[in-house]
Order: sequence, then C-alpha cells, then structure tokens
Amino acid sequence: MAYRKYEDEEGVIHEFAPMNPVLKKATEVYGRDSQSLMAIEEMSELTKALSKFKRGEDDVDPIAEEIADVEIMLEQLKELYDCREAVERWKDYKIKRLEARLEDSEKEKESE
Ligand SMILES: [Mg+2]
Repeated sequence: MAYRKYEDEEGVIHEFAPMNPVLKKATEVYGRDSQSLMAIEEMSELTKALSKFKRGEDDVDPIAEEIADVEIMLEQLKELYDCREAVERWKDYKIKRLEARLEDSEKEKESE
C-alpha cells in the first residue's frame, strides 16, 4: 500500500503510514453514520474514565483502554470524512501555536 504525502508551507514533506487494514475494512462494512456514533460513544467512555480517575481512582488501565478505543475510532473518522491531510495540517498549525505560547510564557516567567 502506498504512503500518502503532502508538502506543507515550509516545504516539509509529511507522509502517512498506510491505514490498518482491519480498521479500513470496518469503515467499509459499518459506514460513516454507524462509526460516527461509535466514536461519540467511545469519546464519552474516555471522558468517564478520566473523570473517575480524578475522583480518586488510581488505576490507569481503564484510561489506557479508552484512549485505545478513541484512537481506533479517530483513525476511522479520518478515513470516513476523507480529511487525513487536513487533520495533519491542523495539528501542525496548532502545535506550532502552542509552542509559541509556551515560549511566551517562559519569557514572561523569566522577566518576572
Ligand atoms: Mg470503550
């Protein structure tokens, strides 16, 4: 399976690993509506696991399990909404913005 690529504004080439064939098959068998609903349910389960942990639960495994479920659903959503490249562009943009904010707050701390 070929790697998909795109070039960003700075000329950096980004490559995507081929999608897991089992997840690809799931998108074809169940379709966008069903898998979108499943994603909503899995995100809600992760929300619950995080909230439970905050209330004094100290077992990280339920969080790990729900992160796995959400990642599995996110992979399928990127395929079902044909937006894998757009997601990567948004991630690049947001990570750079976060980096700038972190640098700003470091500078503010230093000048205090
Ligand atoms: Mg789950």
